[in-house]
Amino acid sequence: MGSEMTIPPHEIMRLTLGNDRERLFSDDSLWLCLTCETCSARCPKDVDPARVIDALRELAAAEGSGRAPRAIHAFHESFLDQIRTTGRLSEVGLIMQYKLRSGALLQDVAVAPAMVRRGKLPLRPQRIAGVEEVRRLMAACERERRLLAAAGRPHAGAGNASGPAPTTEVTGAGEESR
Ligand code: SF4
Repeated sequence: MGSEMTIPPHEIMRLTLGNDRERLFSDDSLWLCLTCETCSARCPKDVDPARVIDALRELAAAEGSGRAPRAIHAFHESFLDQIRTTGRLSEVGLIMQYKLRSGALLQDVAVAPAMVRRGKLPLRPQRIAGVEEVRRLMAACERERRLLAAAGRPHAGAGNASGPAPTTEVTGAGEESR
């Protein structure tokens, strides 16, 4: 996927240190990262670009859904909704929500019956025992986002309304703590 990224990881780090939001957020490279962590594992300076890119995506999403390609934003929000609802990923729920959000209603519909027959798409979502704790964590992130937004400070999870998010600001991404 790296070959598809017009801004490679080391350049993303340089732009982040320069707080060049416009360049970072106007390009699809952030959204093409697969979080394979190869760049983080190989970084000679022990920087963690994959983690920084993850935080940048949350920041970009916080600036509005238009920052991310529609399909990717739809998947992102649908994934988090599933985690909030059941504490784990329900494939059917994810697909349904993704299709509604992305508008790709008929995409891959032909493969669905075969997947159901093979048990790849369990129709009944399974809820984990600790789903309430997951929801509390997500709600806490949302409260923090609102507090920071009210104080005029951006938050990596802002706009996410749900996600456990890193708290890196663009200007501080190179020195984030975990
Ligand atoms: S984690 Fe790093 S190497 Fe992997 S896809 Fe993302 S930018 Fe590329």
